[in-house]
Amino acid sequence: MNLELNALINGEMINNNEWLEIISPIDLKPCGRVPALKANEINQAFSAARQSFATWKKTTLFERIKLLKHWSQLLLEHKNELAKIMAYEVGKGIKDAEVEIERSIEYIDYTIEEAKRVHPETMTGDGWNIKNKLGIFSRIPKGVILAISPFNYPVNLSISKIAPSLVMGNTVVFKPATNGSLTGLFLAKLFHEAKFPAGVINVVTGRGRDIGDLLITNPEIDLISFTGSVNVGNQIKQKCNGKELVLELGGKDPALVLGDANLAKTVKEIMAGAFSYSGQRCTAIKRVLVAEEVADDLVAMLKTEVEKLTVGSPLDNATVIPIIDDKSADFVQGLIDDALAHQAKLVTGNTRQGNLLAPTLLDHVTTAMKLAWEEPFGPVLPVIRCKSLAEMVKIANDSNFALQASIFTNNLDHAFLIAEQLETGTVNINSKSQRGPDSFPFLGIKDSGQGVQGIRETINSVTRLKGLVINY
Ligand code: NAP
Repeated sequence: MNLELNALINGEMINNNEWLEIISPIDLKPCGRVPALKANEINQAFSAARQSFATWKKTTLFERIKLLKHWSQLLLEHKNELAKIMAYEVGKGIKDAEVEIERSIEYIDYTIEEAKRVHPETMTGDGWNIKNKLGIFSRIPKGVILAISPFNYPVNLSISKIAPSLVMGNTVVFKPATNGSLTGLFLAKLFHEAKFPAGVINVVTGRGRDIGDLLITNPEIDLISFTGSVNVGNQIKQKCNGKELVLELGGKDPALVLGDANLAKTVKEIMAGAFSYSGQRCTAIKRVLVAEEVADDLVAMLKTEVEKLTVGSPLDNATVIPIIDDKSADFVQGLIDDALAHQAKLVTGNTRQGNLLAPTLLDHVTTAMKLAWEEPFGPVLPVIRCKSLAEMVKIANDSNFALQASIFTNNLDHAFLIAEQLETGTVNINSKSQRGPDSFPFLGIKDSGQGVQGIRETINSVTRLKGLVINY
């Protein structure tokens, strides 16, 4: 594949004759190029977004819905083409890419239905010597939203920012990840085809390290919605001049396996949670904390399943695929090497061809190893054996990450008691950690994020209340 796509600024598909090559994780060769934009074009995108906000916010909800539905229809029509781009650009299996697109189309539908039900709240002001007041509190759009997405869900994590923003009357400047830019500009092409008014949605490309500061310090921004690593999230916090932020950052989700867990079900969930898309998911299960009495059985069962995983190309729908680039593969390898150097036991895996890492299971991982704490974003699963529930909870909570956790047990009393003690955004009982369903609130605490996503929550975060008080 060798695709060249233009950016979308103020209703025009443009380039500046400077290009950023996109390197496919499949063979580490270019699969296309996108404009490497500079300050001039970035500033034009924000000016266009600001200008068009004045008229877009006055359109009726049904006008906005009509355009979004048209766009979503185009997305469905181009599903196969887009899935192929995603496979080349971010190494996602074709079938998984199609599922991501279908899920995102459902996301748009659900967002539209939620938006129709956003009504003002009314309340009487009946208190201390106050009578005869009626307050009407409506949700109004905040203005210009800067949306920055990561590589791993280039459609879903873009749409989950863009659709709620647009339907509620905001305008958007969207910057996809470098690997994710062909997908982002394909979405832009469909916005153009759907005839969104000029400036309402702008899609800009360029390396984050080159244009990141230009983006996040632009004075037109009313809200930055960012999904990505803790490292970049922290840089944004420091540099954004106090702008309002919603941050969805990294995770180190633990699966706590208690002595009475149904091991067959547990293994199925852990396998799907840890290894799909080579573990490149924020909510992937990234450590197993297991009760010592079932650890041998659990590890043996996991080994059998890990060895059955298909390893290869996303074009053949393998589960374990080459990870996004060599540098990321080196990082994962470094965590594995460190664990082995500290006497972790290799159960299976730890072979590598470039950025294609075999699924790797490590037992007897301890809290002295980096792998117990750092987010690999690759197909490696550490097992930490625990002597008590208290130890499990302590290790789970000692992490700076706090996105989600899973508890596997047949004892619901234990599940609730432990869930209460876990310091994470969400706790899953007897299932893998996961972002969906998209209608659920989704949040991380500590270093894992700030603010809440989810369809209703995102609608709330891109709008603010405005009161009107009637005195009679
Ligand atoms: P990343 O390196 O942090 O990049 C995320 C986005 O930020 C990309 O668009 C990137 O552009 C951009 N960026 C880079 N430097 C920037 C800067 N200085 N200023 C502004 N933007 C900048 O993350 P990633 O590797 O794409 O994604 C993996 C990470 O995302 C993992 O940590 C994962 O856990 C996290 N994630 C979290 C969630 C969640 O919902 N909590 C969901 C998915 C992923 P370039 O690509 O051009 O550098």
